[in-house]
Amino acid sequence: MKRQVSLEEISDGRLYSKNDMVKAGCGGCRGCSSCCRGMGGSVILDPLDVFRLVAGTSRSFLELLTDKLELNVVDGIILPNLKMSGREESCGFLNEEGRCSIHPYRPGICRLFPLGRYYEESASGGRSFRYFLQVQECPAQNKTKVKVSKWIDTPDLVRYEAFVNEWHYFLEDVENRLQQSGQDEERKNTNLFLLKLFYMKPYDTRQDFYEQFAQRMAQAREILS
Ligand code: SF4
Ligand code: SF4
Repeated sequence: MKRQVSLEEISDGRLYSKNDMVKAGCGGCRGCSSCCRGMGGSVILDPLDVFRLVAGTSRSFLELLTDKLELNVVDGIILPNLKMSGREESCGFLNEEGRCSIHPYRPGICRLFPLGRYYEESASGGRSFRYFLQVQECPAQNKTKVKVSKWIDTPDLVRYEAFVNEWHYFLEDVENRLQQSGQDEERKNTNLFLLKLFYMKPYDTRQDFYEQFAQRMAQAREILS
């Protein structure tokens, strides 16, 4: 999700890479669950998030859509996100003790918080991202320094970051193309195609995610080219 704010307004003004130390440590959150409530549709799920959720909950993507997830249009593309509901607009995975019931397979955005991703394209066309610290979002006091890679708590971080980067810029390219075409029919068909290919079509959760994603991405690029 693109945000029309300057980095200076919402961060400490620094960009971080995976080996940097950042003051994000919240001391185990100690009874706070504020980033699991009232988040609207902002916890958007990528294909790896859904792969992990399906494997962890033993529920299909369509079953999860009946209660825990929902679909929304994000910058012109239909994508799933965690559904917030109830009086406190809580994530459906937040348990009665105010803890995440799916901690080992929680989505990437939850792993990142209060970090965010800052995508940057160089003059030579290089496309990459780094991390920034959101300074107004997490109320924990006296945050401790932690290595970004440790904070993200995701195995095989090199492949993960490559996947995140590819997925982001792929969606951006699709979005730009759809904006230029301006045709509702193409927009609808492309959205349905992407939703089915990357989210609805079951992954083999016993096999490597990244290889399955690469095959689907090759198919998508071929069909959309
Ligand atoms: S807002 Fe900060 S302290 Fe509270 S649950 Fe989220 S990360 Fe933890
Ligand atoms: S998945 Fe877990 S960490 Fe993420 S918003 Fe829901 S309860 Fe919070």
